[in-house]
Amino acid sequence: MIIGFMGLLGLCVGSFLNVAIYRLPEGKSVLFPSSHCLTCKTPLRWYHNVPLLSWLFLRAKCATCKAPISIQYPLVELICAGLFIFVALREPLAEGVFLGLVFALLFALSLIDFRYKAVPDGLSFPALGVALLSGNVLVSLEHALMFAGGFALLRMGVSAFTKKEAMGEADILVAAIMGAILGITLGLVAIYLAALLALFAFYLLSKKEVALPFIPFLSLGLFLTYVFQTPITGLIEVYYG
Ligand SMILES: [Zn+2]
Repeated sequence: MIIGFMGLLGLCVGSFLNVAIYRLPEGKSVLFPSSHCLTCKTPLRWYHNVPLLSWLFLRAKCATCKAPISIQYPLVELICAGLFIFVALREPLAEGVFLGLVFALLFALSLIDFRYKAVPDGLSFPALGVALLSGNVLVSLEHALMFAGGFALLRMGVSAFTKKEAMGEADILVAAIMGAILGITLGLVAIYLAALLALFAFYLLSKKEVALPFIPFLSLGLFLTYVFQTPITGLIEVYYG
């Protein structure tokens, strides 16, 4: 029952984030105008806008002009539903809803960062707010401030050393989210993991002079650490006796 509710909620959140992914980076409103075909601009009817089902029912084509509809829409909806269901299996309902929202927002931010190399504040600040609500607010806030401060210092240092802007302000917000959700020890593990993943990706891209978006790696480090927190905590305890 709860799993089904969380799955549906995830589909709806994914559907909303699809609109945000296309509109926010271009400075457009998420609310106006209402959903329309990107090719012929015809407004969608409600039954053309049902998460997942409409895409299948319309066979990935606009009902009016038959322009293809990107598979990104159902994919984002499905992945968000998966995130919400996964979190629901491990957390009480309220925490699960907040945490599912944080992961879904980070997923959307990752896609936007990947494509535009910049992310809108309209998504990153709400993600931090929801992350604080997903646990004990005061403790989460303390950890968030510590991680944001640490990252801001790191950014200043690296920027001064390399004489160019290192990391974006959004990376600092995501670091704060990592601290809020994971706490200090696991948060550091997540940042270490994110750095490893980023280095690996950099190596795969054969060290080309590319500006790697960092938010996808931070988000992946956070999510993997959340998924494997039990074995990771066990390893740390064995290591430090
Ligand atoms: Zn159309």
